[in-house]
Amino acid sequence: MAKPVIFAIDDEPAVLNAVERDLRQKYGHTYRILKADSGIAALDALKQLHARGETAALFVVDQRMAQMTGVEFLDAARKLFPEAKKVLLTAYADTEAAIASINRVDLDYYLMKPWDPPQEHLYPVLDELLDDWQRHAEIPYDGIRVAGALWSPAAHTVKEFLTRHQIPYRWLDVESDPKARALVEAHNAGTLVLPTVFFPDGAVLVEPTIQQIAEKAGLPTHAALPFYDLVIVGAGPAGLSAAVYASSDGIKCLVIERDAPGGQAGSSPKIENYLGFPMGISGGDLTHRAITQARRMGAEIVTAQEATRVRAQDQYRVVTMADGKEVSCHVVLLATGASFHTLKIPGAAELTGKGIFYGAAHTEAFFYQDQDVLVAGGANSAAQGALFLSRYARKVTVVIRAAEPEASHYLVDALKQNEKIEVRLNTDLVQVNGTEKFESLVVKNHVTGETSTLRAAGMFVFIGVSPQSQLVAGAALCDEKGYLYTGADLLREGKRPPGWTLNRDPMLMETSLPGVFAVGDVRYGTNHRVASAVGEAAVATMIVKQYLKTL
Ligand SMILES: Cc1cc2nc3c(=O)[nH]c(=O)nc-3n(C[C@H](O)[C@H](O)[C@H](O)COP(=O)(O)OP(=O)(O)OC[C@H]3O[C@@H](n4cnc5c(N)ncnc54)[C@H](O)[C@@H]3O)c2cc1C
Repeated sequence: MAKPVIFAIDDEPAVLNAVERDLRQKYGHTYRILKADSGIAALDALKQLHARGETAALFVVDQRMAQMTGVEFLDAARKLFPEAKKVLLTAYADTEAAIASINRVDLDYYLMKPWDPPQEHLYPVLDELLDDWQRHAEIPYDGIRVAGALWSPAAHTVKEFLTRHQIPYRWLDVESDPKARALVEAHNAGTLVLPTVFFPDGAVLVEPTIQQIAEKAGLPTHAALPFYDLVIVGAGPAGLSAAVYASSDGIKCLVIERDAPGGQAGSSPKIENYLGFPMGISGGDLTHRAITQARRMGAEIVTAQEATRVRAQDQYRVVTMADGKEVSCHVVLLATGASFHTLKIPGAAELTGKGIFYGAAHTEAFFYQDQDVLVAGGANSAAQGALFLSRYARKVTVVIRAAEPEASHYLVDALKQNEKIEVRLNTDLVQVNGTEKFESLVVKNHVTGETSTLRAAGMFVFIGVSPQSQLVAGAALCDEKGYLYTGADLLREGKRPPGWTLNRDPMLMETSLPGVFAVGDVRYGTNHRVASAVGEAAVATMIVKQYLKTL
């Protein structure tokens, strides 16, 4: 993006060069310093800047110029750049003209010539003006812009996807910003279609799928090869860990991720119990590091691509994607983790994404600045979510069904010490109210029997997770909740699982489908920790290597 411009205008060459020199010395690294020897020449240049979408921060112009006075120039220039600061250079004799122009052209300052030393007479004035300009100016943004409304679930999906990929974007809220609304309507024949996503190359995607966003942002969504040694399904901590260890051992592997990498951990604002990060690390940062590491080791990662089925075909394993494409391999590692339980109370389904969010505190918190929000749940993820939201929200009410929070003690202490957070224990969620968007939650204290209505701008729900093993449903053995049995858990009284034809027991972390392994939160017996997911995946990769040797 081009730097904002500071423009010096004077028809006396010596003065012009001196102003330019002093401006360049102090502001040259942040601003582009331009000069012109007349108001007319400067206006021509300004018109070109304007046409290119560049911005001007400050004009420093001499009042006494032959063709056009400084005040006349400022009057014309402010029509192009109304927010730019205006400084008039004056001689003692011009003081009256300068004072008159304070009202006429909204002059910000007049400066007597000479201004030496600039450290004393020039820079303090300009520093203040430029600080003020920066606070209020709309600096042109040449990245991705997502226009939507807080109550639009599709807009939330796009924001979440971009955030998870650490792709910077600017949010244009059509509800609070008339310019954003006009921009969207202009692109949609007068209709407000949300979200509308604007790309720096001028392309516009209206109500895009995450696949379209991924493709436009240059993210791989399809496997490059037809065959791999190992296909890992899921790019949470377990999948990414497996990708790092497998690739570093020379195993050709592909990671398939339905959304964006990170999994549940990616939605954690701060993981404080992962080894090696004494001050904690955000899920986003951990994910970013893991992806970089996995790619550096040679792993291929595709996103916005769901694996829908895994099947055996002779000695190969075949993974089918949601778009019907297939990829073959020797081994599949299921690292599909778990997804949030959804609220089953009246009103909740209709308002999901319209003020009710599952996890997502890290993506949405900023948009709830100075508003009241609710958090449902009492475990670590809920406590982390509440603490993160409290950085922005005016008040965070945490509603917990149990008599005590189940979170780790360091999080419970942090909740207690946070003045913005109120915790309501023994409280059941009864009903969600709202028409277009979430408005309030009805709760009942099951000890006192008291019912109350909590008004808030949004509600963030963390009430447990369910394993995501649907892609092998009916094919691999799992418990009644869907957690996949692996290794010794598949043996019943020493007997191998039904349908198992191999002359060996299932290997550690191998499911009842030979050559299909499972790690992390989707695996029966796991303990739902980032470290466990990462560790299990490291061990599983070693077993996969042994398995590959048997082929
Ligand atoms: C908000 C929050 C905070 C947490 N904080 C902590 C903490 O501080 N410390 C800690 O130790 N643990 C924490 N946890 C728990 C921890 O995040 C999980 O135990 C861990 O993420 C499990 O990793 P995983 O890779 O097994 O699964 P997941 O993280 O669930 O990742 C699974 C991935 O697989 C993808 N996927 C699923 N199905 C498919 C499919 N069919 N095709 C393609 N992709 C698919 C998903 O989109 C997802 O990206 C937290 C969890 C949450 C929700």
